[in-house]
Amino acid sequence: MPPRRCAFCPAPPIGEAAVSSWRDDPADVRRETIALCRKHLLRLRKAGATGHLHRGLRYKEGFW
Ligand SMILES: [Zn+2]
Repeated sequence: MPPRRCAFCPAPPIGEAAVSSWRDDPADVRRETIALCRKHLLRLRKAGATGHLHRGLRYKEGFW
């Protein structure tokens, strides 16, 4: 069953993104697929390699 809200906010998701997330060390990443609303999907894409910061974790698109 698909999630009914964005991973970062209460908005309904428009799609899923494969992301890598890390706290301090970019080499120590967790890979997961999260549901995102349009706003956060765009933010993730704009953040690029630096990552989008959310609650102390940085997220970037892709599993690398
Ligand atoms: Zn959102």
